[in-house]
Amino acid sequence: MGLDGAWAIAWMRGSAAVVAEHRVELITLDRDIGDGDHGENLDRGFSAILPKLDEQPADATPADILKLAATTLISTVGGASGPLYGTALLKASIAVAGQEDLDADAVVALLTAARDGIVLRGKAEVGDKTMIDAWTPAVDAASSAAAGGESPARVLAAAADAAWGGAAATEPLVARKGRASYLGERAVGHRDPGAQSTSYLLQAAAAAAGE
Ligand code: ADP
Ligand code: MG
Ligand code: MG
Repeated sequence: MGLDGAWAIAWMRGSAAVVAEHRVELITLDRDIGDGDHGENLDRGFSAILPKLDEQPADATPADILKLAATTLISTVGGASGPLYGTALLKASIAVAGQEDLDADAVVALLTAARDGIVLRGKAEVGDKTMIDAWTPAVDAASSAAAGGESPARVLAAAADAAWGGAAATEPLVARKGRASYLGERAVGHRDPGAQSTSYLLQAAAAAAGE
């Protein structure tokens, strides 16, 4: 079975919950190598999405929900992560426009478009110690899972697992983008907050699909 508008709503609700749950952790990670507001920024953004989800019509598509979330994040989250996640969800929305039920390939298209949107906006490459270090392994794992015939839910679970590994792998890196890049070697030994939040958002996507 494919993933519908109710899944997208559950993903956004789950994202709000997981961001609230890990707010302090994300703040602490960002305090170590940034300005300490990442958890607060995302909590504000996803909290603003919640009341809007209640007003969505029953026939809302995944694309409708992703677009709503994107515009809300762009307008409420200050900092680098608002425009980056906002662009990600906007591009994801465009990639699955008009589809009521997303199959495994559509999920891969959604994740790929999200990642490409972040790259378009932020120009980061893998190894720059940013959220891209979580997104790109997630896209690759999702793509392999879909090629192997896995369900949309399993594709998302593969993406979330790979994102977690990618976030952990940012720890030894020197940052080349964002505020952490001002620290040089002092960023070594710290996990990138945006890569960590990406793994939580993808966990929420998989959980919403039943994984
Ligand atoms: P700010 O740095 O403006 O305070 P946040 O703290 O909300 O914004 O987000 C910081 C995160 O944004 C970083 O941990 C990193 O993952 C991500 N980030 C910053 N710049 C870029 C970029 N150019 N490309 C991709 N991700 C980036
Ligand atoms: Mg910050
Ligand atoms: Mg900031």
